[in-house]
Amino acid sequence: MEVREHEPMSRHTTFGAGGAADWFAIPESEEELVTVLTKCRNAGVPWYIIGNGSNLLVSDNGFHGVIVSTERLCALTVTPGADAKTVYLTCGAGALLPRVAVRALKEGLTGLEFAAGIPGSVGGAAAMNAGAYGGEIKDVLCSLTVLSPEGNVCELETKDLAMGYRTSAVMEQGLLVLKAVFALEKGDPAAIQSRMEELLEKRKEKQPLEYPSAGSTFKRPAGYFAGRLIEDAGLKGLSIGGAQVSEKHAGFVINRGGASASDIFCLCEEVKRRVLERFSVELELEVRLLGRF
Ligand SMILES: Cc1cc2nc3c(=O)[nH]c(=O)nc-3n(C[C@H](O)[C@H](O)[C@H](O)COP(=O)(O)OP(=O)(O)OC[C@H]3O[C@@H](n4cnc5c(N)ncnc54)[C@H](O)[C@@H]3O)c2cc1C
Repeated sequence: MEVREHEPMSRHTTFGAGGAADWFAIPESEEELVTVLTKCRNAGVPWYIIGNGSNLLVSDNGFHGVIVSTERLCALTVTPGADAKTVYLTCGAGALLPRVAVRALKEGLTGLEFAAGIPGSVGGAAAMNAGAYGGEIKDVLCSLTVLSPEGNVCELETKDLAMGYRTSAVMEQGLLVLKAVFALEKGDPAAIQSRMEELLEKRKEKQPLEYPSAGSTFKRPAGYFAGRLIEDAGLKGLSIGGAQVSEKHAGFVINRGGASASDIFCLCEEVKRRVLERFSVELELEVRLLGRF
């Protein structure tokens, strides 16, 4: 398996920031993934799994251990269901949602239109229960094959995955997603394509896609929208180093060029502080942090 030494994580995160991983392993199969994780566990070496790094901020000090990437576990398989309507799409953990959504479209399957513009992997999206425009992974997920912290591979149905707003048993129980099965329905390809295009257009119009970011930086606090609170606190454009609260969408912290992970982190902390001071609402990061901050 390919294992790189001192791999800069700025190459593997959509923020384009962060220090190096001591080791960066890229398994080619589920078996290799299980082997590398088992070896790390047995040897007491710290490890972390990533998909597309689109919801991740790695410290400038890097990560002292092994980062395992699922990027090569990206096979897609289509299987007809027992009834005439349902079709199953099985995806390797590293398959990227835009590619999965395009495959669904090609097969004339509806259900994943909301995911076409989410730049994450299936494993990361299942862990986070990613969602957009009224759709969430849990609505279309049938089951996950996971590796448990004890080293057992098992298949879990969606009802057993405690999927909620940007959370799941995958995250809470330290499970590792090896593959996912989506249950989709046959639909009208023209309608599926038009819905995908409409949602992609909305993203282009509203989101600062021209800059590196991790999407919405903060979770939606109950009863509010994070972006609205940040905008109403007058924080659009606030910068620390190369990190900035986007002028286009206040819910996004962007890398305007050369931002360090520390710039991004400190800006997030400042935004939290000012929103709390102004509105007594505590923002919580949606972005996952790795390493020392
Ligand atoms: C421009 C932009 C737009 C975005 N829009 C949205 C949106 O509309 N909705 C939304 O929900 N998110 C959005 N995001 C955030 C992000 O794309 C999603 O959260 C995505 O699901 C993260 O997947 P990933 O593979 O990149 O995960 P990573 O960033 O690699 O990892 C995120 C977390 O998942 C864990 N993880 C990754 N793979 C696995 C695995 N195989 N098994 C177990 N745990 C795993 C990691 O350890 C980490 O804790 C956006 C991001 C960007 C940059």
